[in-house]
Amino acid sequence: MRILCTNDDGIHARGLAFSAELCAGLGEVSTVAPDREQSATSHSLTLYRPLRATGRGERRWDVDGTPTDCVLLALGQLLPQRPDVVVSGVNHGPNMGEDVLYSGTVSAAMEALSLGVPAVALSFAGRDLEHLPSHRPRLERLLQSILTHLPFPADTLFNVNLPPIPGDQILGVRTTVLGSRVYEGSIQKTRDPWGRDIYWVGGGRINWSGGEHSDFQAVADGYISVTPLHLDLTHYSQLDSVRKWKLEA
Ligand code: MN
Repeated sequence: MRILCTNDDGIHARGLAFSAELCAGLGEVSTVAPDREQSATSHSLTLYRPLRATGRGERRWDVDGTPTDCVLLALGQLLPQRPDVVVSGVNHGPNMGEDVLYSGTVSAAMEALSLGVPAVALSFAGRDLEHLPSHRPRLERLLQSILTHLPFPADTLFNVNLPPIPGDQILGVRTTVLGSRVYEGSIQKTRDPWGRDIYWVGGGRINWSGGEHSDFQAVADGYISVTPLHLDLTHYSQLDSVRKWKLEA
């Protein structure tokens, strides 16, 4: 099996080394990752400047672009053969609820899926990666068991979040839905050195909601969360009622 590893934390990130090493036990790994941190770049694509891919060893490149650029270049130019699966992460931090919309980690997986390659996004739902190495046996088993279902159902990628606890304390795996999160106080208004107002987005307090089946609840309970995601954002259950509006133009 050919596995492409990528991420949004950059080629030097600890989570990427971890997943590449883990995946090497499952197949032939190639790595194409951003040359620097690209977290929260979502699905952005670099159009108005050229991209450079620099070889960093056997089947390993960094790209001066976004995670989406990396997947696009990997599949379109760099890899001699298409991978069987793309593994994105392990991200340094959670990607649950609405954060999947901002996440470069999840977007790399979405890009792979939109190019017809099955994909799994991996995130560690904690601030420091201290416990990540202890997750290896469980994550290896989980990836193996997910990959036995290749080819995945159409238009499906898997979003995995690991709880920030030692691996041997994890209680199991839950299949979940996306929860919801609200940031509080995450826009700081301050002044630049010239006294002008500036705003800095980040930090603050995160509150989450979501039922017993949500990704947040699973991770809070000490389970690995696996959420199947799809790319089609059409709100099918609303189609009939919106059709009844008889919109005119
Ligand atoms: Mn990241």
